[in-house]
Amino acid sequence: MKCAVHPEVDATGFCRNCGKALCSECVRDVKGIYYCEPCLAAMVQQAHAPVNRRRGEGHAWAAFGLGFIPGLGAVYNGEYTKAIVHVAIFAGLITLASTGPRQSFYGGLIPIFCVYMPIEALITARKKAGLSASFAPAPAPTPAMESLQAPAEPAEPVPAADRPARPPVAAIILIVIGAMFLLDTLGFWNIGRAIDVGWPLILIGIGGYLLWKRKWRAT
Ligand SMILES: [Zn+2]
Ligand SMILES: [Zn+2]
Repeated sequence: MKCAVHPEVDATGFCRNCGKALCSECVRDVKGIYYCEPCLAAMVQQAHAPVNRRRGEGHAWAAFGLGFIPGLGAVYNGEYTKAIVHVAIFAGLITLASTGPRQSFYGGLIPIFCVYMPIEALITARKKAGLSASFAPAPAPTPAMESLQAPAEPAEPVPAADRPARPPVAAIILIVIGAMFLLDTLGFWNIGRAIDVGWPLILIGIGGYLLWKRKWRAT
């Protein structure tokens, strides 16, 4: 009998788990019982699975807790575009609830959004950890929220070298917001009015960017 990996070498033992013939170089002796390396690796991984599961559960609840602060739950999950969208929606709702003609309507949407964000972060974190996403009941997002939801980032981390260079969206948005407040302070324009007009434009811009990114990735 020859080794399953090295056809020119005689086998010295057989894997207890899969029965593969193993040479002295391939055999892994665990307290007198022979295993092949793939089987041993699988067993070690299986032994660690409950630990990873518990860890994933902990991460999911951390995401839930942070989710009450707009954008933080998504940041915790590594979804930066979604975080920006959440902050933009939250800021928009706050603005619309304090100015404009439909204050009570937008004021009522704020608590709904504050419940939606942590639950969304919890479900995303569980999905990323490979846990069932159906643990928590999915919130019924309003159609507006559904259409604004950013697509989930790819779960598997892409090696830094393969990652396409991303435009610094967060930096651009911070600069734009900062410039708006500066202009307001200097009295060049009314920021309340500007946000009324501006924040839907920002959301449209982000939506357009996401569509463009998806199309660009597909080709
Ligand atoms: Zn084996
Ligand atoms: Zn071998």
